[in-house]
Amino acid sequence: MNGKNVEAMGRGREYMLARFANLPLPGSITPKFLEQPSGDLATAEKALCEFRSEFGELGPEITGDKWYVYLITFRYQWYWRQANRNPEHRRPLSISIHLRGKKRRLSINEMDDASAWATSILNRNNLDVEVDFPSGRINLRPNTLIDWLVLSLIECRRKLTICANGSCRKPYFVKTHPRDRYCCKDCSDMGRQVGQQRWEQANRSAGAKRCRNRKKS
Ligand SMILES: [Zn+2]
Repeated sequence: MNGKNVEAMGRGREYMLARFANLPLPGSITPKFLEQPSGDLATAEKALCEFRSEFGELGPEITGDKWYVYLITFRYQWYWRQANRNPEHRRPLSISIHLRGKKRRLSINEMDDASAWATSILNRNNLDVEVDFPSGRINLRPNTLIDWLVLSLIECRRKLTICANGSCRKPYFVKTHPRDRYCCKDCSDMGRQVGQQRWEQANRSAGAKRCRNRKKS
């Protein structure tokens, strides 16, 4: 890992996962539910360029359009609990067949989507193994930013959340509190406003109904 990668790790798992997953994708993609945030090619390239100059490369062989392939598969993992979402999308590996890796020994077809995806990426490189005998823990030490991001995603899997504000421009986030529904204060303010408007509307129509009923009687 180079200095920029180390800088990325210093920002923390939550920050970096959101930062990566919310990079805009160029144009429209399938599956549709992973499309946002997106932008035109120039916007997407600019955001990608900024990310790279700040945090370095994902890995030695990840160049050009491969960035977007990783980005799509990363977003997909936010839905890992909904494995039956759509049989057509059950295997992110079908979107990016080259992620399977040639040296794998495990049969990834028997795993759930998220496990197969993470296994295929981590299997590509030789990760350093570090044993902490007293605690019985075996730690994997990443050599590339992509490995670190995948390990971060696994660690944060239960906290991966999509912002409840439907028009959020950076909807993928990692919640820090179990009850978090919004990615930031702006989105939560907007959510509260919409809730208030709905409540007022419902009350107004209920009030009008009561009024009509009273007139009838
Ligand atoms: Zn949001």
